Amino acid sequence: METIKKNEVKTGKVIDLTHEGHGVVKVDRYPIFIPNALIDEEIKFKLIKVKKNFAIGKLIEVISESDDRVTPPCIYYAKCGGCQLQHMTYRAQLDMKREQVVNLFHRKGPFENTVIKETIGMVNPWRYRNKSQIPVGQSNSNQVIMGFYRQRSHDIIDMDSCLIQDRQHQEVMNRVKYWLNELNISIYNEKTKTSLIRHLVVRTGYHTDEMMVIFVTNGATFKQSELLVNKLKKEFPNITSIKQNINNSHSNVIMGRQSMTLYGKDKIEDQLSEVTYHISDLSFYQINSSQTEKLYQQALNYAQLTGKEIVLDTYCGIGTIGLYMAPLAKHVYGVEVVPQAIKDAEDNATKNQLKNTTFECGKAEDVILTWKSQGIKPGVVMVDPPRKGCDETFLTTLLKLNPKRIVYISCNPSTQQRDAQILAEQYELVEITPVDMFPQTTHIETVALFVRKDEE
Ligand code: SAH
Repeated sequence: METIKKNEVKTGKVIDLTHEGHGVVKVDRYPIFIPNALIDEEIKFKLIKVKKNFAIGKLIEVISESDDRVTPPCIYYAKCGGCQLQHMTYRAQLDMKREQVVNLFHRKGPFENTVIKETIGMVNPWRYRNKSQIPVGQSNSNQVIMGFYRQRSHDIIDMDSCLIQDRQHQEVMNRVKYWLNELNISIYNEKTKTSLIRHLVVRTGYHTDEMMVIFVTNGATFKQSELLVNKLKKEFPNITSIKQNINNSHSNVIMGRQSMTLYGKDKIEDQLSEVTYHISDLSFYQINSSQTEKLYQQALNYAQLTGKEIVLDTYCGIGTIGLYMAPLAKHVYGVEVVPQAIKDAEDNATKNQLKNTTFECGKAEDVILTWKSQGIKPGVVMVDPPRKGCDETFLTTLLKLNPKRIVYISCNPSTQQRDAQILAEQYELVEITPVDMFPQTTHIETVALFVRKDEE
């Protein structure tokens, strides 16, 4: 085999892309991963890390360019860890995401007959984030800096724009940065774990334009909050809620458990299709609203409700999916582990006069057992867990409940594939549709339809 040495410069042809969007060049069978390289490109690269089973290369020159290559529009793209695919046409991004799902499901497990649809994309794949969580720090010259982290680090890149965030969030960020400097407000230092402002979080209702601004602070004392609140109110009339969230932990978790309202309402309101939702600062809410409508519509198509079914909405957040389906179901039972989200779900059911709903706070794997012991017999179960997927007891109980259809939404297809193998005992995985909730990044969302084998 050819020798592979650190710092050596080589040329090669990219034959594949990893799930992180890195190009793969092989020397004999030894893989070298090269960020920013695209399939079929002839490239020159430098070896920056050489391990026993793989190496990492740095792209030096593209000798022959792929048709999928575009110039990244963001000036921070080369450094920032937020986006990974801006150097690729949007069409290629959508194809790559589908390909990842095909690789996961068609190459392993009993899923070779599962239909994997084209990725549902956005018409305009920019400025889609309705929630921005912006780290706040200080430069060496003690100026306030705000922006996203450098790749694989916690160094903040000071920026004044981000092309995947709502445009208004960027304006709020820039004004807040100016005021924090002007008022000389104390900024948290991640190394010493001291001082005050840690993050600025901004959330906007897609259809209502209501905006919530949250200052995440280390400790409760925030003397200049009133000055900041007055400035924000004056400059951004659509801000309906300003909050302070206290996060004293030394971990990477952005928000703490306690928050208080400094101005306006406790929650913001938004709509998806016909349903109105109230959203608390601590509740999960999908960050790409226009794509969420497409995702839920696809989930609804898969559910095939006739009005007679009992539906379980597991990992329900603020009840978005369950409330979306309630008008077409006999009864919806939802379960979610965050108490504030369950409170939101209950309020949202009342607000939308959807009386055929019941929400329980707890772990899905525990509450599903309770439902089973109560004799609840669901026709359709919606499953939408976090990245780590479902607990095994959840899945085995789900098999015992034996619904006709399971619609499983996932933000991590590899845990979805693992869970699908357990469900495959009794269910046919009929179809998967990837939905692009996070353009310009490598994140993939999918919705999968499982149908009980004796129903086919
Ligand atoms: N279906 C919702 C939320 C999906 S995100 C929507 O579309 O908006 C996943 C949700 O699962 C989060 O709200 C998270 O708080 C919740 N969660 C995480 N682990 C859980 C568990 N073990 N049991 C129940 N809910 C859980």
